[in-house]
Amino acid sequence: MTGTRRPPPGYPPHSRPVPADPAVDAMVAALPKVSLHCHLIGTVAPQTVVELAAKHGVPLGRGADDLYDHDSYEDLSEFLRVLDVVGSVIRDADDFHRVTYESLVAGGADHGVLYREIHLSPPGHPDVPYPQLLDGVVAGLRDARADAGIDARLIVGINRERSGADAVELVEQVIAHRIDEVVGIGLDYAEVNGPPGRFVEAYRLAGRAGLGRTAHSESGPPAHVLTLLDELGCTRVDHGYHVVDDPEITARCVAERIPFTCTPVSSDIGRYSGSGDGTHGRIRQMVDAGLLVTIDSDDPPMFGTDPTHDYRVLAHALGYRRDQLAVFTDNAVEACWLDGTEKASLRRRVAAMVAATPDAPPPTSDPHLLEDSSR
Ligand SMILES: [Zn+2]
Repeated sequence: MTGTRRPPPGYPPHSRPVPADPAVDAMVAALPKVSLHCHLIGTVAPQTVVELAAKHGVPLGRGADDLYDHDSYEDLSEFLRVLDVVGSVIRDADDFHRVTYESLVAGGADHGVLYREIHLSPPGHPDVPYPQLLDGVVAGLRDARADAGIDARLIVGINRERSGADAVELVEQVIAHRIDEVVGIGLDYAEVNGPPGRFVEAYRLAGRAGLGRTAHSESGPPAHVLTLLDELGCTRVDHGYHVVDDPEITARCVAERIPFTCTPVSSDIGRYSGSGDGTHGRIRQMVDAGLLVTIDSDDPPMFGTDPTHDYRVLAHALGYRRDQLAVFTDNAVEACWLDGTEKASLRRRVAAMVAATPDAPPPTSDPHLLEDSSR
């Protein structure tokens, strides 16, 4: 695929449109981004899903225009059902190559993403052997780097709705097929159906193998954050908005600089980060508390967003301008699992791009007092 860079795959219109503001648009487009919370299976453009379904003779019952219905994803089980459909049409190494490449180039580099740690979900592709999945993803990753200069690593996600034994088996596979590109493990799907304590053995196994550890916590109590840190050995938390309900746990996370990978648009639709009214109050609380917050787009086309748009909605809802938005990217550099030399190089690239980014004028009124601008 190198040398024949694909056109943008055509993500759906934004689900949280904001008023036109050329200065904000120029700022968020120019800012560098470092992506720590994006799922490969959730980045597939609708047209690609339709084409892969046709390739494998899978009836979808929907076209590209109505494949993703973000309004229905307040119901997590409905979202996960659609995710399974997408997973079911990605079947061979060529498919993984294609979706990885499109995700990293049109869905990443074209939005100023310099580096991404992609969450993979082997349990979402039950008929694809893990080594075959890896072969396709790594080929896509190498071509994306050659064509668009974006660097990436991989996080293997455990489906928390399955058993602890399944999780151990997956981590054993990761260790048996160890490659440099796989830097850690994660834990996703519905927290309500898979409390983190179920996965202690799998996480300890990963820790002994030197793998990085993170986990989603989108709907559980603040105490789940303690389970992640103290029992699973996580060094970062995906989502984690509820942490601010507990001042002691928040203070500890501030002191230990625990990163939280927040995803404004998807979490607004899923109602994890607030009441779904586009005000992003939880993210503001986390920033104001001094927590190490990073920003990403989770499952961008499925939720009607992209890496630039997640920055844009925060600029409008919370009045954030260049320097605050750049802090999110600096935080992601600090939180990522590159080695020290690579991290220093990434930090220099980020700093140069931030310096070249035009700042937008401050908002004319206090955005904290504004009504939801997306309605
Ligand atoms: Zn996620």
